[in-house]
Amino acid sequence: MHGQCTSVGVSGFSLHGGVHFGGLSELYGLASDNILSLKAVIANGSMVELTNSSCYMNAKGVDYHECNGLWFSLRGAGSSFAVVTELTIQLHRLPSTFKSSLSIFQVMVSSSTNASRYIDIFINSVPSEVSLTFFGLDAYFKAFLFVLKFIKSNERKRALHHGMSRLLGTKTRKGSDYVYFVVEATWVAEGDDGGNDDIYGDKIGNLLSKIHDKIVQGNIYAHGDLAIDMPLPFLYTDRTWSVPSYDLVWGSGHAYGGASITTGAAGSESVLQALMQRFHSHLMLSRSSKRAASHCSDCVVVLHRVGDGLASRTSSSSSSSSSFNPLRTNSTLWAEVDCGLFYRKLRNWPMCSRWIDDTQLVLDQAVEKRNHSAFHYPNVPNLVTENWGEMYYGKDTYNRLLEEKRIWDKKNLFNHVQSIGSAQRKKDIINNDLIEHAHLCNKAYKWRGLRDLRLGITIISGFFFLRSIYSGARRLIHQLLTSRKCDTSTSTSSSM
Ligand SMILES: Cc1cc2nc3c(=O)[nH]c(=O)nc-3n(C[C@H](O)[C@H](O)[C@H](O)COP(=O)(O)OP(=O)(O)OC[C@H]3O[C@@H](n4cnc5c(N)ncnc54)[C@H](O)[C@@H]3O)c2cc1C
Repeated sequence: MHGQCTSVGVSGFSLHGGVHFGGLSELYGLASDNILSLKAVIANGSMVELTNSSCYMNAKGVDYHECNGLWFSLRGAGSSFAVVTELTIQLHRLPSTFKSSLSIFQVMVSSSTNASRYIDIFINSVPSEVSLTFFGLDAYFKAFLFVLKFIKSNERKRALHHGMSRLLGTKTRKGSDYVYFVVEATWVAEGDDGGNDDIYGDKIGNLLSKIHDKIVQGNIYAHGDLAIDMPLPFLYTDRTWSVPSYDLVWGSGHAYGGASITTGAAGSESVLQALMQRFHSHLMLSRSSKRAASHCSDCVVVLHRVGDGLASRTSSSSSSSSSFNPLRTNSTLWAEVDCGLFYRKLRNWPMCSRWIDDTQLVLDQAVEKRNHSAFHYPNVPNLVTENWGEMYYGKDTYNRLLEEKRIWDKKNLFNHVQSIGSAQRKKDIINNDLIEHAHLCNKAYKWRGLRDLRLGITIISGFFFLRSIYSGARRLIHQLLTSRKCDTSTSTSSSM
């Protein structure tokens, strides 16, 4: 089981949690919950083999109670405890009813109080079996392409009709006033024969209309302060978005960095508000200075509501030490701003990175001020949160991990920034490291650059090809017409 990005390595993903934001985590838990057994080399050089009830050290059986803590620690904070050499992972048949639907919300960011309130209502009203993703983009055409790529083919006509009329409208230009949210609702139900399309599709559709009505009744239109508009109704798709869609957002040739926070329902409104304001400031700045003032080439807002409905009905509730664990008994809102770090502009990386760090602090403060519980996710680390250990794992789990670290890795051999027990902080990482990282990405993206070039050449040659066909056709028609004229004139002259 992996997340939605198939290029992400399975070990790092599984050893620190591993969330599928498209519905599978609601059904089967985190990736770390699905580790059946593992082999690892620990700090004293021994090879351990572990399951949830057995332990072998250098092939000799050991009382399981001695290894219980290591088993716990490896499935949530793996990189701080060992080098894992083998994982056995529980496979699941993909449910026959893996449904999702897509829509587009238009949100005016300057009225972000209204927008975040209504998004919050929506998030908290959708049944908890449903996993929700809001993918906030700065231009309608991006959002529209996104939807077009993933909907069922028989829905395309309807989407194209809506899309084209929006695209021809004035509000769809890339600009700073609106954010277009692609809203994806995904649900899975084991053993179901597909009837869920109707159950959830209708429920979600009704919720959307209710929210829409509320906005209209509240005279928000009348004041010219449009908070949310729904240009596109829900359209069904039979798969959830996955990694290629990142290319749609940032184009090829990007690495990305982001700020994120995880909170329960109570904290979602303040997080949403902070996020929207931050995103707005980025868009405004980008527009006024004609380039990304934050030096990030592109930013998007991503909101995932990971529900708990199916987890409570199955045996999937998380038992590992991953950070999603403290909140797994309730729906969790994951909120993030991701920015593209365009590999050709290496010098901008440190500035962009600083903007992302500031965004992280704003998000942290949004929940701290209101005293809402919030978490971070170690798989998407940030280097600015002061009490990162507790924020990643929760206080109790972090203390337990510290204890286990004393037992299994006394000399702190597995030591990196933000490893368990590490004191290393952001200040140790200087801009040069970021530039070096950028150089590495630059190399890695070399072939992507070639792909851009190939695409460019294809588009340009396609244009010339079409133009030559057009002029050829024109010439042919012209010739036909003139030859017909000639024929008529010849026959006229001969008859004379
Ligand atoms: C494009 C993108 C999309 C993502 N989407 C999701 C998502 O949908 N859901 C989600 O949960 N996460 C997601 N992530 C986060 C992802 O899970 C983490 O970045 C994860 O750490 C990636 O693991 P890796 O092995 O590729 O990376 P690495 O950087 O190689 O590894 C991450 C950490 O694990 C350690 N590690 C790796 N292998 C081992 C091993 N064998 N033994 C011990 N330690 C090891 C490394 O030392 C490092 O500290 C996404 C990341 C990206 C870049």
